[in-house]
Amino acid sequence: MKRLKDFEKDLNKCSKCGLCQAACPLYRMTANECVVSKGKFIMLHGVTKGDLKLSKNINKYLDMCLKCGKCNNFCPSGIDVCQILNTAKYEYMKTTFVNKFVKFVQSRLVFSNLISVFDLISKPFRKPFKSVSKSVLRLVYFKGCVNRIFPQNDNYINKIFKNSNIEIITPKFDCCGLPFLSEGNMERFVEVAYYNMKQLNVDYDYFVTDCASCESTISDYKNYIDCDNFVNSEKSINWGDLIAQSNMKFKFRKPLKVTFHKPCHLKSDTFFEKIMANCENVEYVKMTDYDSCCGLSGAFSVKNFNLSQKLIMQKAQNIIDTNADVVITVCPACVLGLKQGLLLSGSKIKVKSLLEFLSEGVE
Ligand code: SF4
Ligand code: SF4
Repeated sequence: MKRLKDFEKDLNKCSKCGLCQAACPLYRMTANECVVSKGKFIMLHGVTKGDLKLSKNINKYLDMCLKCGKCNNFCPSGIDVCQILNTAKYEYMKTTFVNKFVKFVQSRLVFSNLISVFDLISKPFRKPFKSVSKSVLRLVYFKGCVNRIFPQNDNYINKIFKNSNIEIITPKFDCCGLPFLSEGNMERFVEVAYYNMKQLNVDYDYFVTDCASCESTISDYKNYIDCDNFVNSEKSINWGDLIAQSNMKFKFRKPLKVTFHKPCHLKSDTFFEKIMANCENVEYVKMTDYDSCCGLSGAFSVKNFNLSQKLIMQKAQNIIDTNADVVITVCPACVLGLKQGLLLSGSKIKVKSLLEFLSEGVE
């Protein structure tokens, strides 16, 4: 496991150019230098040099981050911001009393078993994936915690792919680990990363997720663990990519106007317009800042309630301005953020996952 000290060189690479400020949604909202990577790096560099203590105040700014990675994309020095912030959080948490409680709640005994219990309870409500004798594609499906709790997604997948010869394999994965990483529980994150990669000892054509955050976290494992069984990035896709590739057609009974919210962690959204072009009776309207954060971002929304609400309401307004009937996204957490904003705005616009929406257009 890396220490903050190991990132001294990266912290040195920051030229203080400030380009990350233009990209950071929180800096744009607060104009506070401490919320963006440039300011955070100045503080953390002070820590690695021994001039500053990794204090409660610095932790406040570590928590004031959406982990959206927008600053990463703009940084000319190519610094992996999220890995540095996660490592700093890990070191800070080790010094706190609350760390013991967080570790207990996030342990295999509590967290993983609780998800497994929900998974079991929801089993009677989900149709099992069909078995195929001669499959054209073998898919390993990483459901993520939300879809293990709620059964609908499996049913949408069954409906959409009812005529396709695909084989869906669901090894016993644990959580992708993002909630552990964000809370500085690096030991637990490393544990699930090794565990999940161990489950991958099957032949597959694609590793599929329907949650952009799970996909991005799993692709990040290589920065935290040593293993020879990582998901090949070319094989890692989401259901949207697969549907776009297969050129499936969908038909909706009445005309619908839809818009799309791109989750922060989604690699590419080119699949969306391709799929919409294959949906009869559907008009796609692109919303302003369609790729800006929904504002929820896990524990960020609890620790920074006011900032989170501002982002959530701004996103809701952008959706309302499109005059759409439905807003579609590909992350179960974003679905919650978008629903919250639209509900608080008194809007009747529906929020649907891509799979839910498309399952309604299957003839
Ligand atoms: S990850 Fe996002 S919120 Fe955090 S500093 Fe970078 S741009 Fe700002
Ligand atoms: S864009 Fe990169 S190099 Fe420039 S200030 Fe931000 S973190 Fe530093």
